[in-house]
Amino acid sequence: MSETIFSQILSGEIPVDYLYEDEHAVAFRDIAPQAPVHLLVIPRKPLKSLQAASPSDTNLIGHLLQVCQVVAKKAGLEDGGYRVVTNVGTDGGQSVEHLHFHVLGGRALAWPPG
Ligand code: AMP
Repeated sequence: MSETIFSQILSGEIPVDYLYEDEHAVAFRDIAPQAPVHLLVIPRKPLKSLQAASPSDTNLIGHLLQVCQVVAKKAGLEDGGYRVVTNVGTDGGQSVEHLHFHVLGGRALAWPPG
């Protein structure tokens, strides 16, 4: 997979403060927050999007969602609730071609999204 902003973050080329990190995943704040709390959870494995995941990635995808739960709690979103989103491809509005889950909260979020 070609280099992306997120692969540069993972390599340390672009420095960010991780809110969470382990062997398989990292989480950090979105640079252009769309809500009072806007976090990104990404795998270290360079998957292009959810659509690029295969059955062998089932545990990884489950783990990423668990990390969303952990960072949401850390950010104080547990009581008020939050939203987890992954954008896929052009119609999904994906701008970085490295799988990521957005964790959004801190205000009431509209539904349906635009
Ligand atoms: P998406 O549009 O779903 O692909 O989401 C990509 C997200 O990455 C956007 O919300 C961007 O604001 C965010 N983003 C881009 N560059 C950075 C960066 N250097 N650090 C943190 N977040 C970033």
